[in-house]
Amino acid sequence: MDPERLIAIIGAGPVGLAAAARLIERGLHPVIFEQGPGPAAAVRDWGHVRVFTPWRYLVDEAAGRMLRRNGWTPPDPDELPTGAEIADQYLEPLARLPAIARGLHTRALVTAVTRKGIGKLQTSGREQAPFLIHWQDREWQDRHTLVRAVIDASGTWYQPAPLGVMGIPVPGEEDAGERLAYGIPDVLGAERARYAGRRVLVVGGGHSAMNAVLDLLRLREAVPGTEVVWALRRAGLEHVVGGGRHDELPARGELGLAAAQAVERGDLQRLAPFSVTALSRTEHGLRVDGVHAGRHESLEVDRVVACTGFRPNTAMLRELRLELDPVMEAPPRLAPLIDPNVHSCGTVPPHGVDELRHPESGFYIAGMKSYGRAPTFLMATGYEQVRSIAAELAGDHEAAREVHLQLPDTGVCSAGPAGSCCAPAPAPRRTPSGAASCCGGG
Ligand SMILES: Cc1cc2nc3c(=O)[nH]c(=O)nc-3n(C[C@H](O)[C@H](O)[C@H](O)COP(=O)(O)OP(=O)(O)OC[C@H]3O[C@@H](n4cnc5c(N)ncnc54)[C@H](O)[C@@H]3O)c2cc1C
Repeated sequence: MDPERLIAIIGAGPVGLAAAARLIERGLHPVIFEQGPGPAAAVRDWGHVRVFTPWRYLVDEAAGRMLRRNGWTPPDPDELPTGAEIADQYLEPLARLPAIARGLHTRALVTAVTRKGIGKLQTSGREQAPFLIHWQDREWQDRHTLVRAVIDASGTWYQPAPLGVMGIPVPGEEDAGERLAYGIPDVLGAERARYAGRRVLVVGGGHSAMNAVLDLLRLREAVPGTEVVWALRRAGLEHVVGGGRHDELPARGELGLAAAQAVERGDLQRLAPFSVTALSRTEHGLRVDGVHAGRHESLEVDRVVACTGFRPNTAMLRELRLELDPVMEAPPRLAPLIDPNVHSCGTVPPHGVDELRHPESGFYIAGMKSYGRAPTFLMATGYEQVRSIAAELAGDHEAAREVHLQLPDTGVCSAGPAGSCCAPAPAPRRTPSGAASCCGGG
């Protein structure tokens, strides 16, 4: 096919597939590269986790329209599905629609994106040159596809942050083997035998850590010998509680409240502020060295679960002209909207093609990866991003700039103390063009 009509999408997760639906609606032709055996590979990895966002925020509008035209019955908008249910009931049927399936390559690992015949240093003729997608097929053969534009929606799931507070692995981390898990292990299902009756240290203070802690406490009810130790970098519980009852996503608010209540009841041992400095293998588990409230402390555990966040992998984009914020590793106009140093409430104003632009014209990072290291991404945000990008690529510049997403408020600003990021407070470190306040309200 004429590369002028092809748009590459890297990743068939919720945002990559929504991008495909939007491009098709605009008369463009997506070609989607997914490294996994099928669509939604990353979502399936955390398939046992029940999300805090109901179906109404999980189905992209264009994707929903395409599915309904093909006889799909939408799930109950108020229900909270698991990752596996999102994949089974929404993303797989979407990827099977002929208009999407004909452009979808699975077990297709993108290894690099370049401009055809043009190096990074060359400016002349750059914008006219098509992009060349370098990828490996299921037989590990090198393949190349020419396209007009690229949407990188490859997520961050496969690049968890290490345990070390300085951003690099602590000594012993890389030798910890299967006694150290990243993300949210399925302790109530497939991985139950590994955790039942064990002493487990969970490291991290975000939603993943709360999910892991609460699952382990459920396991403890069934297998009383199970012990949970929770290490947090910050001392107080306010950041765990988040918006609590003020959160417009009640399940998100309840997650924080349940985790804080478990601490207050003494259901687990809390170490805070704590930072891990080294791991070493023992006969049956791991010895964890760390700094606890300024003093060195060691503990013996059977397993460690690291929920220390994720970061974008930009290695395959090395030959493109990217502009990334030095703090967030997100596009510089988006970064101040999501930087927790500036904007701690996590409620992100709508944004689109203008905030996502890079010096490399025709190239966009969307979805979870567009947030760089920020943990606050919601699928609905990504759906609005790709609606705007698809409009831009179709030449509808006006629609591309009419961003109108209203996300459920985290409630942190209404619940938090005066001086929280939405209260009258010192001016933020930097102000994006077009974003009025950290809550985006104006
Ligand atoms: C445990 C958990 C719970 C969450 N709960 C919610 C929630 O309640 N509500 C909400 O709105 N959001 C939630 N999120 C956040 C976010 O919406 C999801 O992570 C979502 O899956 C992000 O979608 P994505 O399409 O950007 O990336 P992903 O779903 O990560 O998809 C990226 C895809 O790209 C593929 N890929 C990666 N690299 C390559 C490559 N080089 N070549 C080809 N393919 C590649 C991957 O295999 C993957 O399938 C949650 C996230 C996690 C981890």
